[in-house]
Amino acid sequence: MKSADVVVIGGSAAGAVAAVSCRRRYEGKSVLVIRKEGQVQVPCGIPYIFGTLGSVEKNVIPDALLQNNGVEIVKEEVLEVNREKKTVLLSGGESVGYDKLVMATGSLPITVPIPGADKENVFAINKDANYLKSMLGEINVAQDIVIIGGGFIGVEFADECRKNHACNVTIVEILPHCLQMAMDEEFCIEAESLLPELGVKVCCNQRVETILGDRKVTGVRLSDGRELKADVVIMGVGAIPNIAMAAKAGLQTGKTKAIMVDRYMRTVTDQDIFACGDCAEKVSFFSGSPSAVMLASVATAEARTVGANLFVTRQQNGGEIGVFSTMVGGRAFACAGLTEKAARQEGYDVVVGEAVATDTHPGGMPGAVSTKVKLVFSRGTGILLGGGISGGKSAGEMINVVSACIQHKMTFDEVALFQMGTHPALTASPIAYQIVNAAELAAKAA
Ligand SMILES: Cc1cc2nc3c(=O)[nH]c(=O)nc-3n(C[C@H](O)[C@H](O)[C@H](O)COP(=O)(O)OP(=O)(O)OC[C@H]3O[C@@H](n4cnc5c(N)ncnc54)[C@H](O)[C@@H]3O)c2cc1C
Repeated sequence: MKSADVVVIGGSAAGAVAAVSCRRRYEGKSVLVIRKEGQVQVPCGIPYIFGTLGSVEKNVIPDALLQNNGVEIVKEEVLEVNREKKTVLLSGGESVGYDKLVMATGSLPITVPIPGADKENVFAINKDANYLKSMLGEINVAQDIVIIGGGFIGVEFADECRKNHACNVTIVEILPHCLQMAMDEEFCIEAESLLPELGVKVCCNQRVETILGDRKVTGVRLSDGRELKADVVIMGVGAIPNIAMAAKAGLQTGKTKAIMVDRYMRTVTDQDIFACGDCAEKVSFFSGSPSAVMLASVATAEARTVGANLFVTRQQNGGEIGVFSTMVGGRAFACAGLTEKAARQEGYDVVVGEAVATDTHPGGMPGAVSTKVKLVFSRGTGILLGGGISGGKSAGEMINVVSACIQHKMTFDEVALFQMGTHPALTASPIAYQIVNAAELAAKAA
């Protein structure tokens, strides 16, 4: 029987990083990644298959990452975990023994249970390459596309679907605004205002009640009775943890129906089994309560904690901050931590600082983009709780600075004293640097 010191089930963001981290921390240990796919899709790259990339083949995580770190790969499905024997059963019938097991089985897309959801050309956002290929074939010839869900994935799909051919794209969102689960209203309104320029229609405060058509979709009926034509419907409404196999093996699941882990990422049921990524239960960095956030940033941080802790306990998982960024028609939107609204709902007395400046300086530099930073602090302690940014591409890295400040519980006074590297072609001016100015203005208002 084949065996390895560490067996990882799943080879996407969490599985690959847990395997590599383990080899970095414990050089002498053998690590085996078992995954269903021949090649793994970059999950966050999936919307870009339908526009910018144009093909599934261009959206692959290279195996070299694992191979160069001495990780063995088996391309098969795991059917079962036998905790007593410490083995996993592969679809080919072979069993593989482990000393430590890492569950990194990820998530599955939610299919909204509405009448007609089973019709042809109704797609959920599955990460399987063959599924995505057939989806691409249909989207490339579609005239009318309806996207259910205006979260960041729905908005990215809407933007991308029109890039390679003219078609009508409509987002149907149940909330008053797109992106509302992640960002404060002013950013949502700004992002939404860009969508019509991209040829994307938005129907907010609406629910898709029925998917119309015989065998194949022909349209959708909304809650206000309107009917929209559609030859493709995309459900971008989130994901659920993929835990059927873990549950069958008796691993306890938590409030979010994900595998329960302690702060060292060990499952609470079995000390030799760890879990990370979308299949593992998360807690909020702020409240410690279970959280359903699923992001690659969280998955990979958890995976590094697993890699570090497999044989010696070294690191603790501090909980998810929730940092992410997206692009809408060439403008970047990013957020980290609590929005102002969420912070108030959590009971914080908040103080906000905002600063706007171009992302290069002077503002007359070619390609300069006006970039706004909003920071949310707790008034009493001065500690940074969250931030939102809209602007040029640098917003994607600026939000990571904000996230690092949140993770280290920095106050407005500390953030205001941050020494930022600046350059005319690369950043805002040192005088107008948005993060420090927003912090200083919050300190003034506190
Ligand atoms: C369209 C889209 C866009 C996204 N964009 C972003 C973004 O911009 N930024 C961000 O931070 N996050 C983004 N996310 C979220 C991010 O992709 C997920 O949080 C991340 O993929 C989680 O990684 P994971 O490894 O836990 O799970 P998954 O990516 O779901 O991978 C699980 C792996 O386990 C394998 N597996 C499962 N069961 C078995 C089995 N029984 N045997 C063998 N293999 C198995 C699967 O085949 C897969 O390879 C996006 C998600 C989607 C769907």
